[in-house]
Amino acid sequence: MNHLATEHELDTPALDVAGIRAQFPILERQVHGRPLIYFDNAATSQTPLAVIDTFRDYYSRYNANIHRGLHTLADEATAAYEATRETVRSFLNAADRREIVFTRGTTEAINLVANSWGRANLEAGDEVLVSLLEHHSNIVPWQLLASQLGIKVKVIPVDERGVLDLDAYRALFTERTRLVAVNHVSNAFGTVNPVGEMATIAHEHGALILVDGAQATPHQTVDVRAIDADFYAFSGHKVYGPTGAGALYGKAALLEAMPPWQGGGEMIKSVSFEVPTTFADVPHKFEAGTPAIAEVIALGVALEWVRGVGLDAIGAWEARLLERATAAVSRIDGLRILGTAPHKAGVLSFVVDGAHSQDIALLIDQLGVAIRTGNHCAQPLLAHFGVTATCRASFAAYNTLEEVDAFADALERVIGMVR
Ligand code: PMP
Repeated sequence: MNHLATEHELDTPALDVAGIRAQFPILERQVHGRPLIYFDNAATSQTPLAVIDTFRDYYSRYNANIHRGLHTLADEATAAYEATRETVRSFLNAADRREIVFTRGTTEAINLVANSWGRANLEAGDEVLVSLLEHHSNIVPWQLLASQLGIKVKVIPVDERGVLDLDAYRALFTERTRLVAVNHVSNAFGTVNPVGEMATIAHEHGALILVDGAQATPHQTVDVRAIDADFYAFSGHKVYGPTGAGALYGKAALLEAMPPWQGGGEMIKSVSFEVPTTFADVPHKFEAGTPAIAEVIALGVALEWVRGVGLDAIGAWEARLLERATAAVSRIDGLRILGTAPHKAGVLSFVVDGAHSQDIALLIDQLGVAIRTGNHCAQPLLAHFGVTATCRASFAAYNTLEEVDAFADALERVIGMVR
């Protein structure tokens, strides 16, 4: 294609998209007789062979319960599981492996903080700030605490672009503000939030900050120490890993002071009916029961894979895809993009006059294109913008400019059919 290079193209570190695609068998699939165009990456990304092979390898060679075994398979499984802890530590640039707790994903990580830190530290009248951009998983746990403990949940507003209003944020703090719970990147609009600046402001007011990193970890390098996050949560299945494994980062001093949330095996030092039961040190205090061993090991493989490809290169490539998609769909009559923040990750949310989002998604699926429609677990945000659903296309390292063009053509065709 003969065109002048855009700013993004000039800056883009090389990404071997063809070589990346070859590692994702699912991308060879046909859907309704057409090549799959997978643009639902914000919901779940696809997994490369290295991750898929980890499961076969684990169950073929060293499947065993971890930590208490005195046999070779248990030792190997434990070593591989604990190796992922080190991988996550360095992926997030945490100071210490003990600051990484494995969870099922972001939702469970946030619920852990709400139920352990929240119940131990919050009382009636205390305040938690959440943003209007939050996924339900960073709203409902705090609402549950509000109904159980009498705390207040206050909402940081957004402007018409879907950018958080930092002046309003500052103004929400009172002497009762204990925690800010905010996402790093919005799944519904793609807005990248200034979480470092928000952490500074929270700390100035003596409050902690929990960052929901579910949508940031796939697209940009995350440094929990540079952000000065007190807690940081993410899910493996959005970062080229499996479902069922994610992590919570928490500053060591906070985790050490927090009570256990779930009780059971693995999380104790000693159990007695006569003297008080004692608990394991962090992070195992928060990992009751047999964890998702194979999934956690595969999560480590996924993070190494991402690092090998390079998050800067991935982020820059996705910015090109987003730029191309934004330009292409903007030409469609009656199409309105929701979320026009200057700093966005690869998420394109839109509604179309006279066409239901659900109809668009169903029909475009017939053309092999997978996008998501609905409220994206962000009902308050969508209600604020006067809609109940949007269509959302979201990009990953393996998507191509040709796919973006094919998507835009398919979208125009489908809108023509439903209008
Ligand atoms: N937060 C954000 C911003 C998300 O996009 C998602 C997943 N859509 C979650 C939290 C919840 O993640 P999970 O379902 O993996 O726990």
